[in-house]
Amino acid sequence: MSTTPQDLLRPDILAMSSYHVPPAAGLVKLDAMENPYALPGALKRALADRLAAVAINRYPAPSYVRLKQLIREKLGVPAGAEVLVGNGSDELITMISVATAKPGATVVAPAPSFVMYDLSTRLAGSRFMPVPLAADLSLDVDAMLAAIAEHRPAVVWLAYPNNPTGDCFRRADVERILAAAPGLVVLDEAYQPFALDSWMDELSRHDHLVVMRTVSKLGLAGIRIGYMAASPRWIAEFDKVRPPYNVSVLDEAAAEFALEHLDVLQAQCARIRDDRERLRAALDAIPGVATFPSRANFVLVRVAGATAVAAGMRERGVLIKDVSRMHPLLADCLRLTVGTPDENAAMLEALRGALAGR
Ligand code: PMP
Repeated sequence: MSTTPQDLLRPDILAMSSYHVPPAAGLVKLDAMENPYALPGALKRALADRLAAVAINRYPAPSYVRLKQLIREKLGVPAGAEVLVGNGSDELITMISVATAKPGATVVAPAPSFVMYDLSTRLAGSRFMPVPLAADLSLDVDAMLAAIAEHRPAVVWLAYPNNPTGDCFRRADVERILAAAPGLVVLDEAYQPFALDSWMDELSRHDHLVVMRTVSKLGLAGIRIGYMAASPRWIAEFDKVRPPYNVSVLDEAAAEFALEHLDVLQAQCARIRDDRERLRAALDAIPGVATFPSRANFVLVRVAGATAVAAGMRERGVLIKDVSRMHPLLADCLRLTVGTPDENAAMLEALRGALAGR
């Protein structure tokens, strides 16, 4: 008899399920906070030329010098900070989790928040301590401070704005956490293009602050590029756990091209921000639907029978994210990505239809 996975693998991994991505073919896809807009045709052709010139027979250059330089110039990394590039910010979360996983290490994050903080922490072998948000989904800063005092966490993760709730935590609350945390505080600014608020400028004041971002929500989720900025002495250590060649030459070239045309992506994000407000107003006008404030490219709503409503919307051709079983605080909550005006109209129509058909 040959060895089975059950014989060989870690029990915690055997007990896990894979990250589930539902099929979206033929559906209006508003479940994953993607930018719905493509690059304009002329830029697409210029990008194709750029990619055609990439030497795909060669490994990537060791440390993504030009990409990092563009990130610094275009995305507001302050002078004293160093940058590390990851295969999506998911990989940066893994790097930080692995590097901080000393025996007995604990990691704190509000809950609900981005699931990869929990998953990466546990896979790396550290203990994950979720701290529930307040009932209105704001940060329970006293509970966070109590958890920090009790567990002395190696890392505190704060998504700013938070996923899946959508709002930014109060800056004064984040300041208190920064003042109290004995370890690293990572501000995950994946949704920064829609929040227009950042902790980047605070890097010079806090040596234990790490600011993490991604180009995914900006419009490049298909190329996998995330980056973090922090003091050089932290980045030098995290770089040791970065797999060599972690970003492909094609992703690197596409990211460089996109950053050279950042104004195009930023204009798309401005549209999404405007449409988010219109979408919220339209959602609030539907009886039985309550929205939460958002500074991201999605809106969290509460509606009775959320799971049935999500299924009804899917039957009507619109895929959104049912988060109602993710955490008790999200009971009856759905997360709706802001799409194009047409997609948003289709989503509203499907929602009204699903509510009427219950
Ligand atoms: N951080 C947050 C808060 C997110 O919501 C996401 C993706 N949904 C990520 C990080 C990961 O982004 P990516 O790996 O695409 O860079």
